[in-house]
Amino acid sequence: NQDTSYVGRFAPSPSGPLHLGSLVAALGSYIRARQMDGKWLLRIEDIDPPRALAGADDLIKESLVRHGLLWDDEVTYQHDSHQRYEQALNWLQANGHSYCCQCNRKQRLANPKGQSCPCAQLALAKDECATVLRNTLGAQHIQDLALGAVSFAKGACDDFILRRKDGLYAYQLAVVVDDIYAGVTEVVRGADILPSTAYQLALYQLFNQPAPAYLHLPLVMGDNGQKLSKQNHAPRLNDAVANSNLCRALGALGLPVPRALNNAAVNDILEFALSNWHIAFIANNASAFDNRID
Ligand code: GLU
Repeated sequence: NQDTSYVGRFAPSPSGPLHLGSLVAALGSYIRARQMDGKWLLRIEDIDPPRALAGADDLIKESLVRHGLLWDDEVTYQHDSHQRYEQALNWLQANGHSYCCQCNRKQRLANPKGQSCPCAQLALAKDECATVLRNTLGAQHIQDLALGAVSFAKGACDDFILRRKDGLYAYQLAVVVDDIYAGVTEVVRGADILPSTAYQLALYQLFNQPAPAYLHLPLVMGDNGQKLSKQNHAPRLNDAVANSNLCRALGALGLPVPRALNNAAVNDILEFALSNWHIAFIANNASAFDNRID
């Protein structure tokens, strides 16, 4: 008797195997979904094939299983959703929310902030162009479950790309279309993605859909003081020591694990997490959030 009104998800990009930073996002979203008796979905965000690493999706799934993080329903892949992205894009276009733009990246960056590209005035053909969202919305606000009130000034996101010239859909569009389609009610993810939230809120508003609740988790910093990420060559998780990985991830979520559980089985550690973890352990921990925007 699951309360399916709560739907959460973990949405890794298959650009490499999981590292401790991504485990924290997986664990945080898993704990919330299980504590709320909701669903926890797994979506592989392979929207950007040039950045995907062959086989990384299988490594990610294997790691999640070894860490006891078992998802509900079928795994979804963004490469199966292109038709939905296309429909959403056509809808935005038909309603005057987008335009075709032939600029390259350099030309686009040279555009004055807060203004649409001159391409917006030309009725360019879709085929040779990027599709760009015409963002005329004002400031956006969320009540993040960990950060509290966060405001994104109007300038936090100008017009932005929905589909690149080469036909690749943008992450912002794909995430919002997927989360709406899956009925996601709460997005739990790393605070590194906080700036993207401004773009995603704009899309929810234009689609006339309620935005989900947001919970941005503290980032895990490596010994070098940089956030753990694939770009920073964070080491791959060793699935053979899943229990100690979980203890470290829980520590990053503000819940130190008692010594007696250090060598416990994965499921015992998860049980401890589900009974004891609370958002208050990370709330208002401003120092953990580098990307906070006010
Ligand atoms: N695919 C994104 C990443 O791996 C996460 C997207 C999200 O959780 O909204 O960083």
